[in-house]
Amino acid sequence: MTNTVPRILIVGGGYAGFYTAWKLEKHLRKGEAQVTVVDPLPYMTYLPFLPEVAAGSIEARHAVVALRRHLASTEVVTARVTKIDHAHKVATITPSEGEAWELEYDQIVVTAGSVSRTFPIPGIADNAIGMKAIEEAVWVRDKLLSNFDKAAALPPGPERERLLTVVVVGGGFAGIETFAELRNFASSLLKKYPQLTFDETHFHLIEAMGRIMPEVSLKTSEWVLKDLAKRGAYVHLDTQVTGAVDGNVELSTGEVISTDIIVWTAGVMANPQVVKGSDLPSEQRGRITTQGDLRVIDADGNVVEGAWAAGDVAAVPDLTGGGVGGFCVPNAQHAVRQAKQLAKNLTAVLRGELPKDYIHKNLGAVAGLGLYNGVFQSGNIALKGFLAWGAHRGYHGLAMPSWERKWRVLWGWWNNFWLGRDVVNLEAVQTPRRFFDEFASRPRPPQPAEAPAKPAAEKAPVAEKAAAAK
Ligand SMILES: Cc1cc2nc3c(=O)[nH]c(=O)nc-3n(C[C@H](O)[C@H](O)[C@H](O)COP(=O)(O)OP(=O)(O)OC[C@H]3O[C@@H](n4cnc5c(N)ncnc54)[C@H](O)[C@@H]3O)c2cc1C
Repeated sequence: MTNTVPRILIVGGGYAGFYTAWKLEKHLRKGEAQVTVVDPLPYMTYLPFLPEVAAGSIEARHAVVALRRHLASTEVVTARVTKIDHAHKVATITPSEGEAWELEYDQIVVTAGSVSRTFPIPGIADNAIGMKAIEEAVWVRDKLLSNFDKAAALPPGPERERLLTVVVVGGGFAGIETFAELRNFASSLLKKYPQLTFDETHFHLIEAMGRIMPEVSLKTSEWVLKDLAKRGAYVHLDTQVTGAVDGNVELSTGEVISTDIIVWTAGVMANPQVVKGSDLPSEQRGRITTQGDLRVIDADGNVVEGAWAAGDVAAVPDLTGGGVGGFCVPNAQHAVRQAKQLAKNLTAVLRGELPKDYIHKNLGAVAGLGLYNGVFQSGNIALKGFLAWGAHRGYHGLAMPSWERKWRVLWGWWNNFWLGRDVVNLEAVQTPRRFFDEFASRPRPPQPAEAPAKPAAEKAPVAEKAAAAK
């Protein structure tokens, strides 16, 4: 790198990437380093809000944080990092339009997150949707609303019930929250659809293990199962999805569920495009390996100079002795705190000081299960119902980065409390041009050139022509 100011390249502006950049802006002195964040999305997504976005309790735009607005001195590049050649400290940046280019850096921070982990089950890749992006949450919300509209216009019968059936696959936190929020949303919608009955709506969650929500105690998870069943949402434990073709979800138990909405939340894996497209070391689960201070290390434990990683894409040792396999579990609690430590450590290393280890003891887990209902667990302390829901809203409302964003979310909740949730369905934004296109005037298609007039001698009388045609 020829530039005298060192360049820090952050790959991914999600939880860990956004916080790293945000904190670097605070720690670095003017001119001490140039920070560049590259992400194909111009915003950081507050993923814990996706179930509430899908249920219409949070406006979609409020659940994301515009990078350019909140990163004042960081260079934001809206593109994908498609290759990291750390041996030469060069990354390939590929925008959605135009040619890819190479960016040299001095320090790289890989925070490219995770993607939905799926299995090669027939129909899943084509018919299911994840819950990892704001676009997915918006789609699920609008789809459910559209299906209510369509069902209300049909006579009672199997097609109507298919439209009113939701299947969620995966009973982890994200799956249960999505499932419970959608059930709650559907129940509230019924008041606006007198043609439809509660018994025609069907909610099924499929979980391969014998329990849900490993983050809470077995007792608490059993309470959640009972509570969901009471609300008309059924969890199939020890059951796998074996197919999802032609609107039918087939289960390992032999059951078949006809549905129009399949949400896949059965786990995540470290972003394979970024990890495989780089020469940085990774472990067998595909995560970039780091040591406690978040610097990347190779299989022998040697520090890879100038490389850092955090969040879901990284295997960061959990120095509290917890974690799964000795590593921090992939969650926002870790991603944010790792990012804050990483920003401090990177600044320290640039100044020739020593970095510190990241140590964070899990605070517990809190989940929203629809309006006024939730679950919270920290050690042996468990809260259920309204109190836990209050803890969920309180925690996440305040954890949303920046006051500008907190305010929008809190204000939205306040409005919904008095006005009810917003049930406007904007599914038509997927095809916005059709409104204009349908009535737009177009130039008349070119007419075929007229044949040159024949000389008089060649012209046959009409009667002769008719006779020839017979
Ligand atoms: C529905 C849901 C609910 C959740 N609820 C909770 C909760 O209540 N509590 C909790 O602690 N955790 C929760 N989590 C988990 C938590 O959100 C994640 O662990 C956290 O977002 C991980 O942060 P990250 O920065 O590693 O990844 P992300 O936040 O996913 O950010 C990754 C970023 O990398 C970008 N990127 C991808 N590919 C490239 C590329 N090629 N080049 C450049 N950039 C790229 C992405 O666009 C994205 O912006 C939830 C997750 C989900 C899906």
